[in-house]
Amino acid sequence: MIYDVIIIGSGPAGLAAAIYAKRAELSVIVIEKAGISGGQIINTYEVDNYPGIPGISGFDLSTKFREHCDRLETEFITGEVTDFVLEDQLKVITLEDGTKYSAKSVIIATGGVPRHLNVEGENKFSGLGVSYCATCDGAFFKNKSVAVVGGGDVAVEDAIFLARICKQVYVIHRRDEFRASKSISSRLLAMENVTVLWDSVVEMIAGEETVTGIHVSNLKTQENNIYPVSGVFIAVGYIPNSEIYKKVVAVDEAGYIIAGENCETNIPGVYAAGDVRTKDLRQIITAASDGANAITAVEKYLNHLE
Ligand code: NAP
Repeated sequence: MIYDVIIIGSGPAGLAAAIYAKRAELSVIVIEKAGISGGQIINTYEVDNYPGIPGISGFDLSTKFREHCDRLETEFITGEVTDFVLEDQLKVITLEDGTKYSAKSVIIATGGVPRHLNVEGENKFSGLGVSYCATCDGAFFKNKSVAVVGGGDVAVEDAIFLARICKQVYVIHRRDEFRASKSISSRLLAMENVTVLWDSVVEMIAGEETVTGIHVSNLKTQENNIYPVSGVFIAVGYIPNSEIYKKVVAVDEAGYIIAGENCETNIPGVYAAGDVRTKDLRQIITAASDGANAITAVEKYLNHLE
């Protein structure tokens, strides 16, 4: 069988694309690696910024997305994509067991993972004070002290966002200047409740049930200090799951698949949706939006083929 579209990945982008594809009466399959739908949000303790369902757990939200797909009788396949032909008009996707699926178009919605610091306490307190998304979790730390780790655009934007709602923000950066653009860096440095710990690295995240402090070491003076914080926001970059597609699909220097809002990549009939795509804001709502936009683009592409 030749499907209209194969969707690779079953996070919010892939599931939204599946819903739009079924409603557009396209023949579609979703290939998911782990045999569980939802992507990164499965492990999110609470999602408080998805309109209409405040305070829902990430697991419950992904279950709702999946149930919506099931109601539309969407076909899901569990398997890891190991090879593909994307450049030809007929796209062929091969899984690790050798099974092949063919389609007229493909949506890559494989997401990514935040880079970890790999320090003591990071995994233990993930979701219990350690967060990789300030815009998702910042509101839980209103009037509290928090730390932001990193010196790029995301870390600096996160710190500005947090400084508006938190009592005190410590920014921990391993060098003596930010990588982030000058304009936002200056805005951050002018904020009264922000302290930047330059040339500093996190040694350990401490706590009991939840985070209570962060152990920081200065690389130049070797001085160690403990800062009392209840939240630690880690913003040291993100690793998009684009590795195997790079040989044919154009990516930027950080590995994100280059695509605009219509999700079109450099290859006709191949789309990138969600966190794997170049974009400014990586959130559930923008991933879901990509899924809808990608299917709209697929429909136009299929009409053009026929
Ligand atoms: P990024 O620019 O790669 O910055 C990552 C930061 O984390 C750097 O400051 C880096 O330090 C630090 N870092 C990396 N690994 C570390 C480790 N193991 N321990 C401690 N620190 C570590 O990543 P990003 O901020 O997530 O941004 C991703 C991309 O999106 C960038 O190209 C960025 O410009 C873009 N973006 C743009 C906008 C905007 O234009 N408004 C907004 C958001 C993101 P070093 O500086 O020492 O390398």
